[in-house]
Amino acid sequence: MPKTPMVPPDATPVHSTAFARAIFWPRVIGLALGFLAVASVLHERSAPWWFWVGPVVHGFLWPHLAWQLARRAPDPQQRERSNLLIDHFAGGLWVAAIGFNVLPSVLIVALMAMDSMIVGGSRQMLRGLATQAVGVLAGLLLFGVYWQPASAMQTVLACLPLLVLHPLSVSYTTHRTLRKLNQQREELAHLSQHDGLSGLYNRRYWEQRVKDEFARFVRTGQVATLVLIDIDHFKRINDSYGHAAGDQVIRRLSDLVRASLRDIDVPGRYGGEEFGIVMPQTDPQAAAVAMERLRLRLHQQPLLDGEVVTVSFGVAGLSRDLASHEAWMRLADQMLYRAKHEGRDRVSTAGEAQPPSRVDEPGALGLLTRDPRALAGLLAKLDSGAAAVALYDPADRLVLANATFIALHASPPVAHSFGDVMRHCHARRRGPRIDADDIEAWLRMADAKRRSRPYRSFVVDMWDGRLFKVDETSFDNGWLLYVSVPQVNADAAPAPSREASA
Ligand code: GH3
Ligand code: MG
Ligand code: MG
Repeated sequence: MPKTPMVPPDATPVHSTAFARAIFWPRVIGLALGFLAVASVLHERSAPWWFWVGPVVHGFLWPHLAWQLARRAPDPQQRERSNLLIDHFAGGLWVAAIGFNVLPSVLIVALMAMDSMIVGGSRQMLRGLATQAVGVLAGLLLFGVYWQPASAMQTVLACLPLLVLHPLSVSYTTHRTLRKLNQQREELAHLSQHDGLSGLYNRRYWEQRVKDEFARFVRTGQVATLVLIDIDHFKRINDSYGHAAGDQVIRRLSDLVRASLRDIDVPGRYGGEEFGIVMPQTDPQAAAVAMERLRLRLHQQPLLDGEVVTVSFGVAGLSRDLASHEAWMRLADQMLYRAKHEGRDRVSTAGEAQPPSRVDEPGALGLLTRDPRALAGLLAKLDSGAAAVALYDPADRLVLANATFIALHASPPVAHSFGDVMRHCHARRRGPRIDADDIEAWLRMADAKRRSRPYRSFVVDMWDGRLFKVDETSFDNGWLLYVSVPQVNADAAPAPSREASA
């Protein structure tokens, strides 16, 4: 069966000479010292001159040739494995040439096996030993059968440098490799958790910390506060001073944020020019004070040379009203939006507001606009699923939607205007069905109606047959709130979309 290739066929693998380079000097030294051990026995047995040719070539020339071969090879690492087999073969020849003299022979076999094991594991070692056996046989043919296992004192001494230095060099190389690996592992861990531009935690890691903090709150009831930060009019900065200046602003703000936090706080880059901070063991009031201090500091230490760059903050503490860490983040995001809405360059904090009375009471809707804390309370309750709610700002942007509303529209909760959501539903034939074929005309008409009448109600017809009653309300501050109540009894429902399509 053909093997599945590890890389796609059109990908060119990148091979490095790092390995061949790393073993160059150990080989030079190891083979030179090995030559010393072999030479001692050859000298002892008064071997003819031609016995010396191989050991000299292998001991002194081969390391350089091996390196040249490896660096020119398409796959230097593979070439090095072959080079190692050549070492084994030559080692086998010398074992035969020195008549199996015990100490040098054992050293040759053991140390080469050790090298092969390091480079290619037991497979490479077994291949090496087999090659070495072939080398021994070739040696017997070449040099004749000679047997002199006892090592003379001179040979024992000649073996000592190899015996001491080779394991030392191997352990040194291993140590360096391990240290490098450790470094790389730390770098990788850092890269996977941090954002390159700001040096803060990246979104994925930071969100995990939000999740962890939320879980801790559920377990132990320990308070924590979440802050979301967004630079004001950042597009303008990019447009006026260029993207590089924008990046510099992001970096400087990140430094300031880091410098103004405690060790236990967790700052992250949440998006382009948006940041988040998890502040454990901190109530929202204390967090707001810290953020206010940071805000003032931005006025004293402008992020751009010669121009103050302001920032808006949304602050949300944990409470039992929050069903999930996502709800917590949403609440902080709503507070950030409120800070923007109220004029930017400010800290907006979700209070421990009284939960509002039922949202489907018209009185409650008025209360929401007069009391922002009540609005915060409502927002905090969104995920209870008791009512489906969506808020649109005066520019028709969808500011927030709870899970029910998102499911109703099968649309993402942000980045869509009300019109976009309706167009999306219309185009995909999902969600509210608009009777009118011309969606644009329907939207224009709905918009005009919205402006002329502060409070109206209509029914939307889902493609799966469900009917929803939708209440739409304009607030004093121009926000709109939709409350859709599932209509379980279809018979009791008025004709679908009559109001909307009228
Ligand atoms: P607002 O006060 O409402 O926040 O106005 P804004 O202009 O800041 O609006 P918004 O937050 O939507 O703008 C974000 C802009 O940030 C859009 C994008 O061009 C820019 N941006 C996002 N990431 C980067 C980045 O890494 N570097 C730079 N220079 N600009 C970025
Ligand atoms: Mg932004
Ligand atoms: Mg911004």
